[in-house]
Amino acid sequence: MADGKTRSRKLRTLGEIVEGGIWPDQGIMVDPCESRRHLAILHVLGRIPEDDFQHLCDGVDDWNWFIPQDIALGMVAPFIVTSDGETEPEREIEATVDGNRRLVKISGRRTAPFSTVLYLSPLLERAGWSIVVAVVAHELAHVLHGHGPFLIEDYVPQEAEAWDTVARWGFGREAQNHARRARRREARQRDERDSRSTDEIDRGRAHGPMLAGCPRFVNVLRELAIDPHPAARDNPVTMLHGY
Ligand SMILES: [Zn+2]
Repeated sequence: MADGKTRSRKLRTLGEIVEGGIWPDQGIMVDPCESRRHLAILHVLGRIPEDDFQHLCDGVDDWNWFIPQDIALGMVAPFIVTSDGETEPEREIEATVDGNRRLVKISGRRTAPFSTVLYLSPLLERAGWSIVVAVVAHELAHVLHGHGPFLIEDYVPQEAEAWDTVARWGFGREAQNHARRARRREARQRDERDSRSTDEIDRGRAHGPMLAGCPRFVNVLRELAIDPHPAARDNPVTMLHGY
């Protein structure tokens, strides 16, 4: 539960984190003061329980950090390919075969090879400390659980699992602050939408339903009708675990 009662405590030093091979070393120097995001990474990785920390360290080759500087307006960045592709599980659908309706098995689609990237937005440089910590912990929780954007119906349960893990690590209070902020932002966006003309809203649709904060995408998630973790329910606008 993200009830804020469990508090994290420091379990390891920067040296031990670097030793684990998980520090986002984009340069030669290890400098946690490089950005607020790096400081939050130090804070979170320093407090994750030993088993989970080891698990994350063991899996460092399965994903990439992406922490662009806030002065970079655009860039081309290489990422190591971390998966040869994934196959959806086989499932059954109802179909008409030889004139009869019956259940048939269909094999899952396979994705192309891809890279898993843990992206931390430069906007976090201007966010409150608890927000930065919550976001870093949340994304690391997704990495720990090996979550991917594979099936839309996995999204809500994966969000709930990630927030549960954030709370278990002792960052429940930060998660609550994060959820409160997301709620405020959602309310603000709702007000802005209400005051916009239909024309403007139609123009906005050209951006597609996958834009974070898009009301239709939020509704898609809600219509899945899976009971999410309260913190995830309060923060339903995440896309590809991006928030
Ligand atoms: Zn997420």
